Amino acid sequence: MATPTPTVTERARLTALRAGWLFDGTGSALIPDPLVVIDGGTIVAVGSGAPAPDGADVVDLGGAALLPGLVDTHVHLAFDASADPVSALGARSGEQTVEAMTRAGRAAVAGGVTTVRDLGDRDYLSLGLRGRPGLPTIVAAGPPLTTPAGHCHYLGGCAAPTEAGVRAAVREHVERGADVIKIMASGGTLTPGTHQHLAQFTPELLRAAVDEAHRYSLPVTAHAHAVAAISDAVAAGADGLEHVSFWTETSVDSPAELIQLIADRRTVVGATLGLVPVPGLEPPPVVRARLPLIAANTRRLYEAGAVLVAGSDAGIGPVKPHDVVRHAPDQMREIGIGQAEALRMITSVAAEVIGLGHRKGRIAPGFDADILAVDGDPLADPGALHRIRAVYARGTAVPDAGTA
Ligand SMILES: [Zn+2]
Repeated sequence: MATPTPTVTERARLTALRAGWLFDGTGSALIPDPLVVIDGGTIVAVGSGAPAPDGADVVDLGGAALLPGLVDTHVHLAFDASADPVSALGARSGEQTVEAMTRAGRAAVAGGVTTVRDLGDRDYLSLGLRGRPGLPTIVAAGPPLTTPAGHCHYLGGCAAPTEAGVRAAVREHVERGADVIKIMASGGTLTPGTHQHLAQFTPELLRAAVDEAHRYSLPVTAHAHAVAAISDAVAAGADGLEHVSFWTETSVDSPAELIQLIADRRTVVGATLGLVPVPGLEPPPVVRARLPLIAANTRRLYEAGAVLVAGSDAGIGPVKPHDVVRHAPDQMREIGIGQAEALRMITSVAAEVIGLGHRKGRIAPGFDADILAVDGDPLADPGALHRIRAVYARGTAVPDAGTA
């Protein structure tokens, strides 16, 4: 019997980040003079005015403020944020799509977004990108469940419109290793022939999909614009809702009881917040006319006490680059959400919502060393979020941070 070879593991050196201020992901104020000690991919100590441990590599970021790496609860790495991302994706082979998704992931990380939940890819490609160095931590849905010819059917997630059909589609996602089930409860603007104001599934089929997913302990989040789709998804026990616009054929509804029910049931609202203004690019009139009404509904949900996060929908157009969630606090402010709470919503609250609250979204011992360093005070000056000094993803400095 061979004697095991004694292995001398050279203990990697600790890294200590020194900066001017720290927002820890849960608080309401900045902590002065922070020192964050990182061992490999994990934060092992956080202090204020503390000396660096002996032998640690000290990185002095001067007066910069440290925040947890940002968490976007709704992205599409397979969409390239061009004017026609659906056609662009359709023209790409699998290999080209993986390359494009890798570029998208790198852009997210460079912009401080170190964790994303991909709520719709093609061919389960986002699952294979999980754990790759240089990319964000990815929580992946695979192709969204939809009806034949339904919203985003071209991504391949069509389920036969029967109870057995939707259960089989959920089970395929389970077998492929998806982290979450995304279901298209209503139509959407990216898919001609579908209607945002109409539900795509019957309440029974939605219930079957949620039931099957929960049997395998997978959470479900439902793309839901139409009032009926929102109401059915809540009734079916979906864990989350995306968009939640209360879209009707001619405008936007505002059903007070349903809004309160969403809050009371703790069904997560993934509000589609975050956009980068692109000169000369206006949303289509049907969207533009509804935007103030949708914002008012998001405010009502917030005031009713709903669990609210920013699911940016990054990738679906030029106003939605892959690091766009950094811009969500600007819209949150317009609906009356304070800056500290907005920052919690794109860090610790978002991490909790996607099932990673135990290791993402906070700068605290035991958490992943995902850190965004910016110039300025991100509580007093929202523009500071865009002045990126450094990004660390799972303990590794991102070489092109802030350049995307
Ligand atoms: Zn989406």
